[in-house]
Amino acid sequence: AAMRHLPYFCRGEVVKGFGRGSKELGIPTANFSEQVVESFPSDISTGIYYGWACVGNGDVHKMVLSIGWNPFYKNIKKSVETHIIHTFKEDFYGEILSIVILGYIRPENNFDSLEALISAIQEDIEEAKRQLDLPEHLKLKEDNFFHLPEGKMVNNH
Ligand code: ADP
Ligand code: MG
Repeated sequence: AAMRHLPYFCRGEVVKGFGRGSKELGIPTANFSEQVVESFPSDISTGIYYGWACVGNGDVHKMVLSIGWNPFYKNIKKSVETHIIHTFKEDFYGEILSIVILGYIRPENNFDSLEALISAIQEDIEEAKRQLDLPEHLKLKEDNFFHLPEGKMVNNH
């Protein structure tokens, strides 16, 4: 069921999150605006995914993404957050983030400790890196979606 909507192409502005301290954990997550989140299929599974991401018209990088319940809205709305597997020199709030979601890693879990959470995310990142090196996933890195001018929103292109 998690795979039904994949590959999923999406682009939108990076907004300020709700300060869960992702960056302090060394795993910053670029949050999409509420409007972008609302445009997602309502039955898409929450959990951790992998795919490709690009900020503005920059390079395309591997990413892990979480679709979860947004505590800011008392968990009635989803949040979509992308951790790009790349070290950026600066934050990129307000920029346009383009992503393609290619695969599902695991459901959202509750962890007993911060250490357990961080090590799960490190494993997600390793899994994403391995998966994205497969030829079937590598080819999406070159997809025209990442080179089209903004505004040409094409999910079923
Ligand atoms: P917030 O709660 O505002 O989302 P985070 O601690 O999750 O704060 O940090 C997210 C911000 O960090 C992003 O919006 C982006 O500007 C910046 N950032 C820097 N490097 C990355 C990266 N590799 N992946 C995602 N965001 C990054
Ligand atoms: Mg965030």
